[in-house]
Amino acid sequence: MAVFFSFFQTIFVGPDYRNIYPEFASSQHRTAMNYNKLFSKIYNGLEISEDQGKVASYIPELQNVNTTKFGVHLTTLKDHHYSFGDSDEKFSVQSIAKVLALVLAYKLEDEKLWERVGVEPSGTPFNSLVQLEYDRGIPRNPLINAGALVISDILVSHFEEPKKQFIEFVRKISGIQEIDYSSRIADSEKSVGFTNAALINLMKSFGNIRNDIDDVLDFYFNLCSIEMTCKELSRTFLFLADYGVCPYTKERIISTSKSKRINAIMQLCGFYDEAGEFSFKVGLPGKSGVGGGIIAIHPNKYSIAVWSPLLNKKGNSIRGMKFLELFTTETQASIF
Ligand code: GLN
Repeated sequence: MAVFFSFFQTIFVGPDYRNIYPEFASSQHRTAMNYNKLFSKIYNGLEISEDQGKVASYIPELQNVNTTKFGVHLTTLKDHHYSFGDSDEKFSVQSIAKVLALVLAYKLEDEKLWERVGVEPSGTPFNSLVQLEYDRGIPRNPLINAGALVISDILVSHFEEPKKQFIEFVRKISGIQEIDYSSRIADSEKSVGFTNAALINLMKSFGNIRNDIDDVLDFYFNLCSIEMTCKELSRTFLFLADYGVCPYTKERIISTSKSKRINAIMQLCGFYDEAGEFSFKVGLPGKSGVGGGIIAIHPNKYSIAVWSPLLNKKGNSIRGMKFLELFTTETQASIF
């Protein structure tokens, strides 16, 4: 009977990984022990030397970060926590915050949003100007800089006090009141923000920016300056693993359909011209930032945040990507 059941399960349900990886057996205690153990095993096998990759030196303040830092935190829908390394240290989330701005703008605008920004992968670097002229000021997607500037413009139009109201939204969905902007990082980026200024001016010339350019840039640089720990980041994004419902308060943040679409955009556009690579190797929707952070979502299961400041040429964390690749490989769990 047991043999028959096992045969049935393998054919119709897929293999039971608890047999293949006994350390993932159902006991919560054992799972807890072993996720943490798995994190240190993967980290110790990373084999990436310090001369590979660079910090995002185009933002002067981001140069000062210690390149040996590494943290990871996974939060499950049942509020179980697993972590390793510098997971309680704050870092600049940069472009990861674009997802939260998109969530709020989508909530406010519904499907009208897509008249001003697309949902296609760009295949170009995050700050690229080239496509914008061809596409007459409509950015390919909301996660490249041009798209996030349009989203910022929308939020500036909707709110009396955009920065205050946005950070209140982030605090509400995370349940963490201490999350804040870093004026040090925002000012540093503003002092060298010429490419973003070029992007927004081009879009303004096509009529796709409604507000004063300086107000929108100020909002955008502050958005990117938000600081979080890996633990805070994974907690903040957990509602996207729960189909739009905040798992702590049970409050619906966005509809199930919108949550699906935000995850789809992350899957296709979250890593710019390396989105295919992340999808191929990790198999989860995710988003990177030039501060070295990555968030990835396993719908119905968990959100995981990794931080390691050295970036590859595409502006994505080298160790973070490799770590997540090995994590989904070892656990044999991804959305595919
Ligand atoms: N603030 C950064 C910029 O505009 C964000 C880029 C990123 O994290 N990919 O250049």
